[in-house]
Amino acid sequence: MPHALVWFRNDLRLDDNPALRAALEEGYTPIPVYIHAPEEEGDWAPGAASNAWRHHSLVALDADLLTRGSCLRVLRGPTQAALTRLIAETGAQAVYWNRKYEPITQPRDIELKKRLRGQGLHVKSFNGTLLFEPWRLTTGHGGPYKVFTPFWNAALAQWRMPECWTAPMWMPAEAAAEAETIQALRLQPRIGWDKNFWQLWQPGEAGAYEALEVFIDGALQGYHSERDYPDRVGTSRLSPHLHFGEIAPWRVVERLEQVRSAKNGADIDAYLRQLGWREFAYHLLHHFPNTPTEDFNPRFARFDWAEPDVVALAAWQRGATGVPIIDAGMRELWATGHMHNRVRMIVASFLTKHLRHHWLHGAQWFWDTLVDADLANNTLGWQWAAGTGADAAPYFRIFNPVTQAERFDIDGKYIARWVPELAAFPLPERFAPWRQPELLARVAPSYPPTPLIDLMSGRDAALAAYRKVGRAR
Ligand SMILES: Cc1cc2nc3c(=O)[nH]c(=O)nc-3n(C[C@H](O)[C@H](O)[C@H](O)COP(=O)(O)OP(=O)(O)OC[C@H]3O[C@@H](n4cnc5c(N)ncnc54)[C@H](O)[C@@H]3O)c2cc1C
Repeated sequence: MPHALVWFRNDLRLDDNPALRAALEEGYTPIPVYIHAPEEEGDWAPGAASNAWRHHSLVALDADLLTRGSCLRVLRGPTQAALTRLIAETGAQAVYWNRKYEPITQPRDIELKKRLRGQGLHVKSFNGTLLFEPWRLTTGHGGPYKVFTPFWNAALAQWRMPECWTAPMWMPAEAAAEAETIQALRLQPRIGWDKNFWQLWQPGEAGAYEALEVFIDGALQGYHSERDYPDRVGTSRLSPHLHFGEIAPWRVVERLEQVRSAKNGADIDAYLRQLGWREFAYHLLHHFPNTPTEDFNPRFARFDWAEPDVVALAAWQRGATGVPIIDAGMRELWATGHMHNRVRMIVASFLTKHLRHHWLHGAQWFWDTLVDADLANNTLGWQWAAGTGADAAPYFRIFNPVTQAERFDIDGKYIARWVPELAAFPLPERFAPWRQPELLARVAPSYPPTPLIDLMSGRDAALAAYRKVGRAR
């Protein structure tokens, strides 16, 4: 049987993997390969939490391949040289992969495709990541969407459930040749800060399916109203699995449609809409490739961001700002590699508005610490929260972290969990403990006695800076 390299990247699954499917259906023996080349991802080489997740996900993928009689070849980049070596070694006649959409990898992959075809190889790439290719939906004028709702309406109008594919239990395989081990890539953090993550997460395909079923049996009921409350299990926690391609988004849709009923229809629609935000993020990244570092709204180039203050930044990163909901979110991130979406919005607003720090400082910290760090979603999230993005929260809408906590952490349980020194603090003072200085000194002497910034003056300074830029849209 002729051989085809199946090059795994952010599609670390076998089920419904279009590149693997094509190789098998076209009669090739697939040679699964993973190439470690972070230097080819420029400024956005995977961060520490991503690397830790990837380590476990690659181990799981290799184990899944082994049970089917195959295995994963792990090579080090540069990518082109690694592929060329493996082609020579195996006599492969084809190279198949699923597309990545980051601005730096897209041109590399197009160039690779051209070169490999020039060498007489059969090369194909597929969409294994998104419901729609990022270029597929266009406005009536043929341009990109900049507003979510019309984008999502266009997506729903073109909604065609594809037939999903189940990977076979056995695959033809080629005897393994010399390769790196996953361990040798040293993707796990040296300081072991991630050691508690894995009680909460199971990277890999099996973990992704498990998370989906747990969601269907639990948080799906009521998702449309509960998804905003960080103290509850109200969301799917599928984001790292989707980012690493451990489950295909159409598979998620298929499974949700199987369980749709009159009772959960609104919840499923609300969930699909969130998947729509992910699609929108990729659409924007594709059409506006500079936005991971540049404001989507060019007026913000003139905005008077504060000079980076290392002390304030460190307090924000470590969850020591003295504002409980901010500290709870940042500590959840550090302890679990994840943060609830509502709290991501609150901490991002605090950094970019109250502290007036450029959103890139926050985006880079998230990039390093989130297990779901994703260039499209992270860019959209930060630019949305900072008010600099497409279809963003206007800059002048500044989240008050105290009222946000009162609304979304009603019983103060989220704060109690992540800032345990405040667990005994009564409500509603727990949301703003500096208002009870004596009690704070007695109950939580280690907690900052005052917030890093006076919330009212931080807000006023942000609004004054914003007025200088003028109306941003
Ligand atoms: C400042 C900021 C930074 C963010 N950075 C990231 C990031 O790096 N990676 C990431 O995956 N998400 C990011 N998000 C979006 C969102 O917070 C997470 O996708 C969500 O919290 C993941 O939890 P979940 O899987 O339980 O979500 P669910 O509510 O169960 O949502 C289901 C899926 O929909 C997608 N989704 C949900 N909300 C959004 C959104 N607002 N934008 C894009 N996709 C969404 C995700 O893939 C998610 O897994 C960011 C949001 C903000 C405000």
